[in-house]
Formats: sequence, structure tokens, C-alpha cells
Amino acid sequence: MFFRPRYLSILTTRQCTAACDHCCIGSSPQQRQAIPVQRIHELIDEATRIESIELIVFTGGECFLLGDALDELIGHATSNGFRTRAITNGYWAVNERAANARVASLRRMGLGELMFSTGTFHQRFVRVDRVIVGARTAAEAGILVRVSVETCDQATFDAAYVRETLADLIDARRVFVGEDPWTTDVAGRGDTLLTHERFFAHVPNPADQRCPQVLDVISVTPAQELIACCGFPQEHLPRMQLGSVAERPLDAVVATAPRDLLKLWLHVSGPVEIARFVAHYEPEFRLPRGASVCEVCAALQRDARAMRIIDEHAPQIERQIEAAFTQLRRQITEPSVPHLQLA
Ligand code: SF4
Ligand code: SF4
Repeated sequence: MFFRPRYLSILTTRQCTAACDHCCIGSSPQQRQAIPVQRIHELIDEATRIESIELIVFTGGECFLLGDALDELIGHATSNGFRTRAITNGYWAVNERAANARVASLRRMGLGELMFSTGTFHQRFVRVDRVIVGARTAAEAGILVRVSVETCDQATFDAAYVRETLADLIDARRVFVGEDPWTTDVAGRGDTLLTHERFFAHVPNPADQRCPQVLDVISVTPAQELIACCGFPQEHLPRMQLGSVAERPLDAVVATAPRDLLKLWLHVSGPVEIARFVAHYEPEFRLPRGASVCEVCAALQRDARAMRIIDEHAPQIERQIEAAFTQLRRQITEPSVPHLQLA
């Protein structure tokens, strides 16, 4: 095994109550593709044989559509010693009573973290008021909550509303609110032309930094493909695919995944740094600016010239990349609620 993943993200179903523009996995109420629940239980058992995995993330689509089966899966993961997180759009928090009932059961099963996604494109399907009710209820029940607000220059939703409404829980460090760039869907399913010039004028662009997710987070898609990261365009980047877990155990696919210098390099340097290396051989080569890290990464991986140059020339610096990767593995400290893909 050339890497030691720490998080297993399971995209339980492609179905969702919403159909947000640019949804990274093309979810909608009409989508039916899902991992059979029994297979998800098996994936949890197989994850126990990968010593490095600490946390299992249940996402989708909308994982709350699994109903009681979600609670049982969380209970199964908890009883095997994993920390757990679920990601949701919050549609189920129709009022305090409904939210209390849903959250109490999840808490009993050991759910540790709950992440809500909301923002401009979610509002058509799930109003933010449900996210507020769900977030408050979960935090008061002892679950660590992160609210992820999608952002881009075209956004009309103001994250300040979420911060003001949940201010007491934010002060108590029981709720965290983050603004995350909404990413252009690599499969071309989005309608709105997304830009992030305003956002990245005020915050550093993660594309300029290393990608800590790749090889630390592995994801199983609703089609049971194992992916080496949790990035938004994951299903559409062949270099991120590790193999199918439909017929083979998760731990066997991880153990036999071919060693890939590009993944190690993304982990230690990120796409922009790699693009500088490519430009050394192809001076005209440029990546999009003002885009989210995964868009930039996708542009790099979809450029045949760049991939050819990396495959031909990166082995020259293989030792440095490997040394940096090993060093990082020693230093790793985890943020309290790491960023993962939106529900
Ligand atoms: S930057 Fe690339 S490797 Fe990292 S999560 Fe996004 S798509 Fe995956
Ligand atoms: S972005 Fe999230 S809430 Fe929206 S359709 Fe996709 S999975 Fe559902």
C-alpha cells in the first residue's frame, strides 16, 4: 500500500431531494443509483482492515434518504471504533420536533459530526431555515456541526444570516460556518457561469497550496468506484480512480492500488505548483485563475500535454516528492472539522 487513507467517504446514493445547479455528482430526485445498504455494511467491515482509517463519512446525494438504514450504518461504524460524519442539505429539519426526533436517533447511534450544505443554489429546493433548525438541534444534542455555504461571484445568499442566527453556538464552538467555492460541474451539467474573482480577492486560493485531501480521503461513489480524493469532479478524472469495489473488498483495492506519482505530488504541492513544472517544458501552459482548487486540478488533469510532461519528467524529482510526502505524513494534525465535499 503506497498510502494510508484516514477518511472513508461513502456516497451512499445519487438520489437527492434537490437538484442544485452544478451539483458535483449530478444528483436529483429522479436519480436512483445507490450502493445497496448491505454492501455499505460490508464496506465498513472491510474498512476495519485498513488500520489508518479513523473516520467514515456518509454522504450522497442525500444520505438522509436512507432513513433508519442510515442510523444503523452509523451505529455499525461506531461499534467498530470509527468516528462518523454525515453530510446533508437539511431537508428533514422541517420543524424542531422533527429535527429533534431525527437527531436524537443519530446521536444514540454515535454520530459525531454533521455537515449541512446551503447557499444560493440550494435555496430553490431547501430553504436555509431548515438548515438553521437542523444545525441548532444537532449542536445542542452534542454533535459537532459545520455549515458549508456555497460561494461564487454569482451568489446572492448571505452567509452572515447563518452566522447571526447561530451566533451563540458558534461562540461556544459547537457550530462552524465556512464559505466554500461552488465548483463548476466538470461533467458540464451546470447552467450558471461560475466565477470566483471576488472571493479569491480576499482569501488565499487553495489551488496555490497542496491538496491535503488526495490520498488522505478516499471515496466510494454510488457506482462503487473507489476514488483517491473527495474532490468535486472525482468521477470524471480517470487519474483519481483506484478501482471498483463492487466485486472486490475495499481493503484489497486499496492494498493493490498502483503507485501514482501525480497523486503524491498533488498531495505535497497542489495543482498550481505542478503547472509551474509543466510550464518549464511548455511555456504557454496556463491553468485557469479565480477558479476553485478542484476546477484547477481538473483542468490540469484534462490537459493531455500536461499529463504527458508529468509522466515523462516528474520521475526526475520522484525522490523529493516521496520525501515530502513522508515528511507530511509525520506532521499531520487534523483541523477540528476538515472540509469535505458538499452534500
Ligand atoms: S484538488 Fe484535485 S486531488 Fe484534490 S480534492 Fe480536488 S480534484 Fe481531488
Ligand atoms: S449539491 Fe447537494 S443538495 Fe444539491 S443536489 Fe447535489 S447532493 Fe443534493
